[in-house]
Amino acid sequence: LPMAYQTIYPYTNEVLKSYNNATDAELEEVLTTSAALYHQWRQEPAATRKPILHKIASALREHKAELAKIMTQDMGKLIGESEGEVDLCADIADYYADQAENFLQPVPLDTAAGKAYYVKQATGVLVAVEPWNFPLYQIVRVFAPNFMVGNPMILKDASICPTSAKAFADLVLEAGAPAGSLTNLFISYDQVEKAIADPRVSGVALTGSERGGSSVAAAAGKYLKKSTMELGGNDAFVILDDADWDLVKEITPQARLYNAGQVCTSSKRFIVLEQDYDKFIVILKEAFAAVKPGDPLDPATTLAPLSSAKAKVKVQSQIDQAIAGGATLVYGNETVDLPGQFIQPTILTDIKKDNPAYNTEIFGPVAQVYKVANEAEAIALANDSSYGLGSSVISSNPEHAQKVAEQIEAGMTFVNAYWMSLPELPFGGVKNSGYGRELSALGFNAFVNEHLVINA
Ligand code: NDP
Repeated sequence: LPMAYQTIYPYTNEVLKSYNNATDAELEEVLTTSAALYHQWRQEPAATRKPILHKIASALREHKAELAKIMTQDMGKLIGESEGEVDLCADIADYYADQAENFLQPVPLDTAAGKAYYVKQATGVLVAVEPWNFPLYQIVRVFAPNFMVGNPMILKDASICPTSAKAFADLVLEAGAPAGSLTNLFISYDQVEKAIADPRVSGVALTGSERGGSSVAAAAGKYLKKSTMELGGNDAFVILDDADWDLVKEITPQARLYNAGQVCTSSKRFIVLEQDYDKFIVILKEAFAAVKPGDPLDPATTLAPLSSAKAKVKVQSQIDQAIAGGATLVYGNETVDLPGQFIQPTILTDIKKDNPAYNTEIFGPVAQVYKVANEAEAIALANDSSYGLGSSVISSNPEHAQKVAEQIEAGMTFVNAYWMSLPELPFGGVKNSGYGRELSALGFNAFVNEHLVINA
């Protein structure tokens, strides 16, 4: 059998671990265990799971160093970013442990037909298909709410970060969660479809590419399963005429370079007014020139390799195509003299509508900068995209900023900030960026049965 699930450290290209794929019999066994747990959980209040989820949060904090190292070895992110991710996951777990009983309160309905309300109930076993860019966070933001709702979860994680997925699934069991609460399986795409087709499964959550999302959503449609899709983005970063330029200078580098640019909500298209354009290019160039590529396990490194050889090849070909399509290379695109999967931070300008880069998500440290004549043009350009995930608006006037923010076709707009994700804030997009929301009360309700009871 080919070993599809492998940890290959993208800094050294060394294969650190390989795993065998799960068999169909193993999948069947997990479906049975998970379905039995769903029926057991239907008889138990969420309060019984609350201490376990808090314990998972504490275990995450306790094992932060070791989990962070596992994530960095799986997909190469800077160790400090991995540590921050573990903290965020612990916060998400605590948040849902604390809020679930509140979120689960019956909702009274105003009707002349009788006493009416709905209760929120679990729906069954979920399949979660998750990507590699945040190896723990992507799992936890689906797992934590659904654990409290009472939906057991089967996880198919990205094949390049199997050790992270396994470590988290082990931690959940060690914290006292019953078998079936979260089961990580090294399964194939066909087995994912098989699981979605199974009557014991009630829904599927996916974060990943449009291509992966479209094929999993097709299976969900075929078998009439509820789904949420968190897909790519080509987020605009719009700098208005009343922007605070100290702030621009402070946040722009991380807006693009955090996680080596591999965030669905990274700022990817910088939209700048004519009069500010030259100044902005200087800021960006200086910031990009200041990065220090190196071993992501070394805290002094500030530029991580991309997650895999495949990811690097893809980003390099997107840069090449953009330039062949007429873009101007303002900075970067030189070879980084290290064995890892590095892409030098790169700035591209003069990208016209017919350039392949214009409407493509580049998942790496590549900034596209656009010059516009006025604010209306900036908003129109921000919206001229098949994506609609996040966006940023920079202005020192809150009313002005919010007025512009609301005109952007996106699921999220960050004023005077780049992407942020907190347990209490909803996360998700529109257009080809997908549908549904994760986190907050909205994410909690994604796979809940709002069960009407009307007593006429
Ligand atoms: P994928 O969509 O291929 O991978 C995401 C997850 O989906 C992985 O677990 C993958 O498994 C799984 N998957 C993909 N196709 C199927 C399928 N047909 N059936 C079942 N499972 C499937 O993303 P990539 O890793 O290839 O990343 C490529 C692009 O995706 C990036 O360039 C970026 O645009 C986008 N992306 C967006 C993210 C986001 O946060 N929104 C995160 C990561 C990527 P496997 O690993 O085994 O292929």
